[in-house]
Amino acid sequence: MGKKRTITRRNLLRDSAAAAAGGAALLAQVGTAFGQAPAVVTQRRFKAWISRGDGPGRTRLHEAALRPIAGRQVLVRTEATNLCYSNVPAVLGLPPPTPPTPSALAAPASAGGRRMADMAVIQGHGGVGVVEAVGPEVRRVRVGDRVCVSGTPHCGSCYRCLRGRSDMCQFLSAIGADDLVAIADLADGTPVYQNSHIGGLAEVMVAFEEWVVPIFTQLPAAELGMVCGCTSVAGLGATTAHALMTIEPASSVAVVGCGPLGLSAVQGARIAGASTIIAIDPIRARREAALKVGATHVLDPNVEGDGLVARVRSLTTWPTDRLWAGGRNPGGRRPGSGADFVVEAAGLDQVTPKLERGPDPTGLKPMQQAYQMCALGGHVVTTSIIRGDMVLPGNLFSIGGVTHHGGQAGGCSPMRDIPRFVELLEKGQYDAKALATSIVPLERMLEGYEEVAYRTTITGIMTAG
Ligand SMILES: [Zn+2]
Ligand SMILES: [Zn+2]
Repeated sequence: MGKKRTITRRNLLRDSAAAAAGGAALLAQVGTAFGQAPAVVTQRRFKAWISRGDGPGRTRLHEAALRPIAGRQVLVRTEATNLCYSNVPAVLGLPPPTPPTPSALAAPASAGGRRMADMAVIQGHGGVGVVEAVGPEVRRVRVGDRVCVSGTPHCGSCYRCLRGRSDMCQFLSAIGADDLVAIADLADGTPVYQNSHIGGLAEVMVAFEEWVVPIFTQLPAAELGMVCGCTSVAGLGATTAHALMTIEPASSVAVVGCGPLGLSAVQGARIAGASTIIAIDPIRARREAALKVGATHVLDPNVEGDGLVARVRSLTTWPTDRLWAGGRNPGGRRPGSGADFVVEAAGLDQVTPKLERGPDPTGLKPMQQAYQMCALGGHVVTTSIIRGDMVLPGNLFSIGGVTHHGGQAGGCSPMRDIPRFVELLEKGQYDAKALATSIVPLERMLEGYEEVAYRTTITGIMTAG
């Protein structure tokens, strides 16, 4: 029962004022449906790490002048960005430790016009920051919003987004050299582009709104740069987004490869309620980090060798092998145990690591093992970049009961999932500090990237401003 309220002139006036304020708020919402005022941003100068040419030394710090913001473009002042391992060759220009192996199975590449290496490109793919200006067609964010510029777009209206697979949003199909649009110019008139339309290794990012996710939080920039970065999004996505697989409480999860993506998957498995979480990595410091963030067991693939799959099978043994009593048999021709869910996050060596090397620099073997350690009826999500074509036992692949999910960003829908990941960080369920072991200012970006490249750190975050 509410309090009985006397009708007075004063109360009536106050109520109508509140109603008017509510109406104004509604109109403001409606107003944004028709776009925002055009941004006028010209010649803003900013520092950017720009890559051009081939080989070491291809990435240098420049000052660039911004072009006007238009259409669905969003200008974001960068607060932090993650130094993704996949970008190591583009940033550092180091030769790969093993020669590229052309795939025998890949579709022929279509002939492109211009070559990415000849263009002036800001590397990186996303970060966190604050919106400084928006084009007239932007609806999703406003000036002053804190945002994640996602490595994966989420338009919500393309064929794949409408089918619940925003990790494969079709806006991703247009990030080649010929698709990029210049966002700035160097002093000599050279146009400046951004990797994947988003960049990150600069004081600003200019992204189309499909890549921008508003996040309503006051958390520190470096931690947000970690949780909103492509690797965390993929690791948490594979384990908690439920687009690819749904980890059940009390299940067993194996994570192959414990870089920032794998260690995010370990945390996601813990958050999802897995009771056995086996983290596998050749680097001791990464296994220690895995134990800190939720792994129940850690394994060194160099020690386990070809016995790795059997070892995972033994660690995931069910309390009974009595088949009439809910049991599963751990051996035989059709062994029932193995990890219920596997996240593969090892990948190729972009350069030879300075810490412990893994068993296979191409990343193929860890991926094969990940598939083979999965239980019958289980699920494998692969997330990494490997070199060469996968070979698997044909019958295991065909009728082994393992469901493989090749996902991008772990199956995440960025607009839906990134705010959830920020909430996990906000409430202490996700540990960003344990993963962001090198935090460097913009001027020292290259030092941070070398640590990432040589795997002497778990991952790096560059802060700006
Ligand atoms: Zn990445
Ligand atoms: Zn889409």
